[in-house]
Amino acid sequence: MKTDSNYKLAQWWEPTDSGKLLCTLCPRYCKIGEGQAGFCFIRQNIDGKLYSIGYGRPTGFAIDPIEKKPLHHFYPGSGILSFGTAGCNLGCKFCQNWSMSKAKIDDLKALHVSPEDVVKLAKKIMSHLLLIPIMILLFSVNLL
Ligand code: SF4
Repeated sequence: MKTDSNYKLAQWWEPTDSGKLLCTLCPRYCKIGEGQAGFCFIRQNIDGKLYSIGYGRPTGFAIDPIEKKPLHHFYPGSGILSFGTAGCNLGCKFCQNWSMSKAKIDDLKALHVSPEDVVKLAKKIMSHLLLIPIMILLFSVNLL
């Protein structure tokens, strides 16, 4: 199977005796067969290796007043930059972002950005960054 040049070899997985790959990034512990994706849709088994197909592929950015976020008295009056990708490892029936969380990366007009791009943008608009990092853990680590 052909990989997109933007796919990133994932971390936190291991091969199993069944030939499937065990993803250990979140407690779902998906066993993923060749060509399949996990429950989150953005970790995929390609030629026996697990790839993060959402790495550096945010579906959008939002700049908000920090008071809109669940942060109590954290730099009041400042801004906050949020972003996320397609896919999610949860399956909440009340999800307000279901059009992104249950989409596959190809369904959305995802951007291409590097961790450096995100840091530059946050500095430019002088905002803090809000991440819910589990689905983009490697990207989040690379922001540091
Ligand atoms: S939902 Fe995604 S991150 Fe969680 S175990 Fe499955 S493939 Fe891995």
